[in-house]
Amino acid sequence: MYLKTLTLRGFKSFASSTTLALEPGITAVVGPNGSGKSNVVDALSWVMGEQGAKTLRGGKMEDVIFAGTAGRAPLGRAEVVLTIDNSDGALPIEYAEVTISRTMFRSGGSEYAINGNTCRLLDVQELLSDSGIGREMHVIVGQGQLDSVLRATPEERRGFVEEAAGVLKHRKRKEKALRKLDATQDNLTRLNDVLTELR
Ligand code: ATP
Repeated sequence: MYLKTLTLRGFKSFASSTTLALEPGITAVVGPNGSGKSNVVDALSWVMGEQGAKTLRGGKMEDVIFAGTAGRAPLGRAEVVLTIDNSDGALPIEYAEVTISRTMFRSGGSEYAINGNTCRLLDVQELLSDSGIGREMHVIVGQGQLDSVLRATPEERRGFVEEAAGVLKHRKRKEKALRKLDATQDNLTRLNDVLTELR
């Protein structure tokens, strides 16, 4: 599995549709300061479901949409499309090529799609989490982030190991199941109250 192409449209400084074709192995993005190198990495996090505007170096999520320049008007939407080569079947989906896209309108809200089919953020997260390239997998190491790993508390370090070992997905599922159990218990209690009143 490897990242094959990344297309940005209206994302940060990439007003026009721009596609980066990637090859297996190492890819280096070079360019002058402020030319948009980090924006490419932001696009990668964003399409994989990043929800934190700060992680994307903005104040609010809307800041990912091209804000305009002296010669070009702002745009109303941002779109990023990531194509992954899945010929080795690393992603749990029956396609040799998988396309994940995320679109956001200035009016708010994000739309996600897998291979052109609209889906939920959770579907994208679940698809990627087993592969180790999900949003929270620390596969994207930003500037200064190594320092924060070195300064992490033992609990935070444990979190990194759990993510790497694929425990995070199951922990989230467990939390969801426990919430459902709680809600069911509440319903049962309410039902018992009704039954007691009827007797
Ligand atoms: P450096 O080498 O200094 O880290 P870089 O190549 O990584 O720079 P980026 O941080 O990716 O550069 O890009 C910064 C540029 O992106 C700035 O010129 C900024 O104005 C522009 N930019 C960021 N968000 C938007 C947006 N929403 N609309 C238009 N331009 C944007």
